[in-house]
Amino acid sequence: MESGNLQPHPRTHPIPVFPAPSAFPLASHTVMGNPSFAKKNLPMPPGDQPAAKSGTSPSSFKKLKIGASKSRKREIPEGIWTKCPECSVMLYDKELDENLKVCLHCGHHFQIGSRERIHSLVDTCSFEEMDASLVSTDVLGFVGVSSYTSKLDEYQKSTGLNDAVITGIGKIGPHRVALGVMDFTFLGGSMGSVVGEKLTRLIETATDRHLPIIIIAASGGARMYEGMCSLMQMAKTCGALAYHARSRLPYLSVLTNPTTAGVMASFATVGDLIIAEPGAMIGFAGPRVIKDTTQSELPPGFQTAEFLLEHGLIDAVVPRKEMKERLTSYLDYLTAARRQVGAQ
Ligand SMILES: [Zn+2]
Repeated sequence: MESGNLQPHPRTHPIPVFPAPSAFPLASHTVMGNPSFAKKNLPMPPGDQPAAKSGTSPSSFKKLKIGASKSRKREIPEGIWTKCPECSVMLYDKELDENLKVCLHCGHHFQIGSRERIHSLVDTCSFEEMDASLVSTDVLGFVGVSSYTSKLDEYQKSTGLNDAVITGIGKIGPHRVALGVMDFTFLGGSMGSVVGEKLTRLIETATDRHLPIIIIAASGGARMYEGMCSLMQMAKTCGALAYHARSRLPYLSVLTNPTTAGVMASFATVGDLIIAEPGAMIGFAGPRVIKDTTQSELPPGFQTAEFLLEHGLIDAVVPRKEMKERLTSYLDYLTAARRQVGAQ
C-alpha cells in the first residue's frame, strides 16, 4: 500500500543494480559504435574513397582537401571516441558514458541501452527484473532476407538481451514503481509478442500491487516478423493500462529517440503524463511518408520532442540527467493527489 512508499531507502548500499557497463560490452558498444555514425561522420581511409566521377562537385573537392586529417583520424582506435552528430566534436567514450550518453558540448542525447537507463533511474539494488527469460517464437515461420529465428539469435547474442524490453519493480526515490524500459538496439526496439506480453504482465502486476508505472519507449514500431501477433500487442497493452487507470494509479510515459509507429500509436501516448527527451524523434509515420501523402512541406522541427511540446502532444521535455529527479517529483504529486482522493 501507499505507506510502503514512505519507507526510507538504503541509498548507500555499495553494490550497483547491474554490473558495471563494461560487463555488457556488446550492448553499450552497439550504441556507442553506431555504425551509421561511423560511416557517415568518420572519413573513409584514402584507399576506400570512391573513384571521382567526371562531374566532380565542389563539395567532393572539399572532402578531398581534408585528406590530411584522415590519416590521423584513421589511427584512432574504435570504441574510444565517438563523434557527436550534432556538434561534430569527438567525445571520449568514457566521459560520454559517465555523462549518461549526453554530449558534453551540445547536449545531444545519444541512444542509451536499457540496462544503463535502468541503472540511471532506480535506486541502487532496488530493481527486481520480471519475466527475464521470456523469448519469442517464430510462429509464422517467417523468412525474408534472413529468417526471424536467425535474427532473434543474432540480436540476442549481440545485445545480451532476450528481447527489446526489460521490465521489473524498482524504487525511484521514495516511490516503488513498475518500470519497463525498451532497448532500440534489439531489432530496432520493435514490439512483438514478448515486448507486449512483458509490458502487459508489468502493468497487471502494477495494478494488483497498486504501483505507478513508468515505461521508457524507444521503438521503430510493431515487429513485422510476427505479423498480426505484433499488432495485437497494441490493444493488449492499452487494455491493461485502462484497468490500471481505473484503479486511479498513475502511468508516466517517457518517449526517447526514436518512438514511432505501433508503439507511438499504443501505450506510449496514453500516459497520464507524457515526457520526452530533448531532440527525440517522435511520430507515427516517418516524415517522408507524410510529405509524400500530404504533398506539402513539413514545418521545421517536425516530429521532434520540442515541436510536439509546443503543439500540445506531450507534457514536458526533460533532459536525461534530470529525468530521475523529475520523475520523482511527478510521482510525489500524482501519488499525493491519489491519497487525497482516496481520503475523501
Ligand atoms: Zn554534441
